[in-house]
Amino acid sequence: MSDCLFCKIVAGEIPADIIKEGDDWLAFRDINPQAPTHVLIIPRQHVATLNDVEEDSADIIGSLTLAAKTIAREEGIADSGYRTVMNCNSDGGQSVYHIHVHLLGGRSMRWPPG
Ligand code: AMP
Repeated sequence: MSDCLFCKIVAGEIPADIIKEGDDWLAFRDINPQAPTHVLIIPRQHVATLNDVEEDSADIIGSLTLAAKTIAREEGIADSGYRTVMNCNSDGGQSVYHIHVHLLGGRSMRWPPG
């Protein structure tokens, strides 16, 4: 998608603090971190929202989750704990319409989320 911010990061057209890459995903630090560790894990393939994930793109959700687990270990937050979040559409607080997993850690999370 030519007008998608995260597609531009995947294409290298916009810089990002990329920390890890897989065959079908990319992980980089959030530009406006909400916790000491705040990493976004995105598929290389453009999928706008969780509502748009179909059988043929479902495997990517597993890849993003496994990447989050690995990165949490590497960031030193696996044992203390962390949160993964996927926001969907306006009530979910989604602002970039290319699916992504937020990996948040390094502080105690509150519940319920705001
Ligand atoms: P969401 O609101 O769930 O769609 O999350 C989008 C996230 O992308 C927000 O946490 C933003 O801070 C983050 N973000 C927006 N632009 C960039 C960028 N250029 N590099 C890194 N993170 C970004």
